[in-house]
Amino acid sequence: MPEQSEREFSLKYKHQLIKQIDAVLPQTQCRQCGFSGCEPYASAIVEGRADINQCPPGNSTVIEKIAALLGIQAKPLNTEHGYPKPRSVAVIDENLCIGCTFCIRSCPVDAIVGAAKQMHTVISRECTGCELCLDPCPMDCIQMVPDVSQLDAVKSQQNEYDDKVDRARRRYQFRLQRLSQEKKQTPEIVDGMKAATSENRVETVKIRKRIVVQAALERAASIRAQSTEGNLKSRSTAS
Ligand code: SF4
Ligand code: SF4
Ligand code: SF4
Repeated sequence: MPEQSEREFSLKYKHQLIKQIDAVLPQTQCRQCGFSGCEPYASAIVEGRADINQCPPGNSTVIEKIAALLGIQAKPLNTEHGYPKPRSVAVIDENLCIGCTFCIRSCPVDAIVGAAKQMHTVISRECTGCELCLDPCPMDCIQMVPDVSQLDAVKSQQNEYDDKVDRARRRYQFRLQRLSQEKKQTPEIVDGMKAATSENRVETVKIRKRIVVQAALERAASIRAQSTEGNLKSRSTAS
């Protein structure tokens, strides 16, 4: 086989293998494996930059499938990357949400809707339970709750689960395309979005500080008001 064709063949084979590995990954897009999503992790495995046991949501089932694809021995999950847990979805306490949009910017599958300064909501059907929106929320108003629709592997639910995994893969890819398109049109905005995670953290700390100071001031004002009231009462009793 000429050198050029050999290279094309090995590139095509590599691409196919990445696709096959990505197809068995859970598409939670949680980054616990140390990569920015399931497909980047699949690429890293094929390129020898990652081991096959770094995906906690996939656990032994996924490890065995990857090992079979690569024709190697399976191994236990590397728990340095985390532990498996039941599937969950995020829920926003809409009474506390201040509409800062940090959660939207953190969601790898665009499963949160809302606009600046307006209450935000999670589309539970699309939420993968990745938990990436929890840290950036300055109000701690996002909670993970069991994903009741996905708990049992009853046949009909298994189909529903498979659909959800497929949708998560498509939504993740769509988001990447959208960000890349936006980068072409308005590079400065996307550069801002790229830095969003670290910026979010800085902003989150600032907002949290503001909330803590505000709460302390309100507490102090309420104590002052109570003690003034108490003084007035004791003066009126004395007179
Ligand atoms: S589910 Fe999470 S840990 Fe597993 S491959 Fe995807 S991003 Fe990595
Ligand atoms: S809503 Fe939160 S937990 Fe659900 S997919 Fe988006 S970032 Fe992950
Ligand atoms: S990060 Fe928290 S406070 Fe900000 S929009 Fe999302 S849910 Fe609301």
